[in-house]
Amino acid sequence: MRQYELVERVKTYDPDADEALINRAYVFSMQAHGSQKRASGDPYFSHPIEVAGILTDLHLDDETIATAILHDTIEDTVATQEQIEKIFGTSVARMVDGVTKLSKIEAQTENERAAENLRKFLLAMSDDIRVLLVKLADRLHNMRTLHHIPNPDKRRRIARETMEIYAPLAERIGMYEFMKEMQTLAFQQLEPDAYESIVKRLEQLKAGGGDQIARIGSGIRMLLGRAGIPAEVSGREKHPYSIWRKMAERHISFEQLSDIMAFRVIVADTAECYRALGIIHQKWPMVPGRFKDYISTPKRNGYRSLHTAVIHSEKMRIEIQLRSAEMHAEAEHGLAAHWAYKSRGAKPDHQVSWIRDLVEILDHADTPEEVLEHTRMAMYQDRIFAFTPTGELIQLPKGATAVDFAYAVHTDVGDQTVGAKINGRVVPLRTQIQNGDQVQILRSKAQEPEPNWLNFVTTGKAKAAIRRFVRHKEREESIALGRKFYDEIVGRVPARLGPDACAAAIKRLNLADTDALMEAIATRRLSDAQVMEALMPGSGGDEAIARPAQREPISIRGLTPGVAFALAACCSPVPGDRIVGLRNPGSAVEVHTIDCPALADGVDADWVDLSWGDGSDGAAARLQVIIKNEVGALGVMAGIFGAQRANIVNLTLVHRDGSFHTFHITVEVHDLHHLMRILAALRAADAVSYAERLSSPSR
Ligand code: MN
Repeated sequence: MRQYELVERVKTYDPDADEALINRAYVFSMQAHGSQKRASGDPYFSHPIEVAGILTDLHLDDETIATAILHDTIEDTVATQEQIEKIFGTSVARMVDGVTKLSKIEAQTENERAAENLRKFLLAMSDDIRVLLVKLADRLHNMRTLHHIPNPDKRRRIARETMEIYAPLAERIGMYEFMKEMQTLAFQQLEPDAYESIVKRLEQLKAGGGDQIARIGSGIRMLLGRAGIPAEVSGREKHPYSIWRKMAERHISFEQLSDIMAFRVIVADTAECYRALGIIHQKWPMVPGRFKDYISTPKRNGYRSLHTAVIHSEKMRIEIQLRSAEMHAEAEHGLAAHWAYKSRGAKPDHQVSWIRDLVEILDHADTPEEVLEHTRMAMYQDRIFAFTPTGELIQLPKGATAVDFAYAVHTDVGDQTVGAKINGRVVPLRTQIQNGDQVQILRSKAQEPEPNWLNFVTTGKAKAAIRRFVRHKEREESIALGRKFYDEIVGRVPARLGPDACAAAIKRLNLADTDALMEAIATRRLSDAQVMEALMPGSGGDEAIARPAQREPISIRGLTPGVAFALAACCSPVPGDRIVGLRNPGSAVEVHTIDCPALADGVDADWVDLSWGDGSDGAAARLQVIIKNEVGALGVMAGIFGAQRANIVNLTLVHRDGSFHTFHITVEVHDLHHLMRILAALRAADAVSYAERLSSPSR
């Protein structure tokens, strides 16, 4: 096709088209492709021009035509994205970039689900429907010229990709002519013998019977006319691929198949549809199992028609669809209905409304801008698509992280996740996946889900799996801890208690089993007194043998309510200190100050981020105080604690020489501020030469 021809074609349907833009693209592409040749021996340049030509049949706008002309320049020539943007503007440059990206994606698997995902991915990547149209036209032209490629394996690969990815995509956006031609060309390549024999059989039928379609069609019209039902009848021959698919699906031969023609009968109203159906079924026996009443039960997208197949003659079955003029208008207008009807085995779903919108817009939009505005792939905008290292596509909601990806692959993969690589680089697990990312999950059998993953995962599957695991683990810990407390309680009673007493207690407390008892003890749903009473009815949970309660005013954030904790003795944290928890299986969570030296020994335990609960007040702080060896010094020190209203719980003289006495003192304080005031007051006193917190017993 020549430059002026292309421009002429566009001008016929869009007189305002930017002629200069198309001309510039033509010259640029011709120069860029230079002397490159196609497999056919034609100049390479002929290909983008033919692709543009295909798109003029669809009456596409000047920018799309320019994009088609330029679509292979970035990939196959020295031309750059920047050049194209400078010469043709951002809109064309963006579309060319889009087509280039789509061209890089190849089907890596013959798995059906993977193909479906790949189709969705292509839709999602073409955020402008025009990009997809250019890609489909590109593929169609490549299929038309496929026979020039000498390597049969390559031909088959391209044909299979067309069959699995591009033909269904064309179908999905309502381009049936594209779809049929792609399928026919791909089928010819993939099943050459079957293709040949079907084409030959169709020709023989035609040669033998003249124009059967016209004859049968007018036969139906006359039959209905005699019954007083005016009808419009049209017929078509099914295309070779759809005939072959039927043969393959039903495991039958061409002769057995025999329904290779389909007729559409359009009558005035619903009542006449049923009358016409009755007349047709009286004349020709129906084929069992083929009758569908989509009038009384329309398809979910609203499609209405009666479908039947009848035995027209001994060797000839025909398919007939009956509908009213109104139903026909709906079916034709809403491509959605059309799509659902043609798409084999596909269930109409919410995608359909999107396609209906798309078609309406393409039909009625006044300006290319309007088309562009409305045809963004809205339906896939909240989805992202990412690859596993083996090329499997995983669909996720926008905002999903590496952990969500891992759980989407498999629950076991999620549970064992220790790290992730995105596009080959190690990233934090909370990293959000982007469209087209390749994600590799690093796993370890020793790994377990982390509770803090719940702070960033977005998919329900990941959340549920992590929660389930955390609950399970917490229960295990509670049970182990409860057992310890239970042994303590039992150790405090004078009588010896065996397993029978325990079993009886469980019954009295109306609990399911030993684990439930231990859990209730650990989480303090049962007090020691209640346990005692259950073990030895009548003991009344003797106060003397009850365990001293944990200090109530202290609470810790970051732990599941009810999980036991203990302020570590080594650093004696007080409210206001920055704290972390160490979780060791079977014991209370140890709370340490963030700079406690003992943490170095806790590397095997789980670290838990903690903070003090609101209103936490009162903890024992440990101090080292050195006072001068002089009369009244001890009194001064004691006076300071008294003035600060801090109760001394323990006081030990650890060292004494001629000049100084060193004490370790445990004192109850409200919080860190209180402790700081006490230390400041001590240091200010003449009698005190040193005052500091003790962070570990060894210091
Ligand atoms: Mn191309």
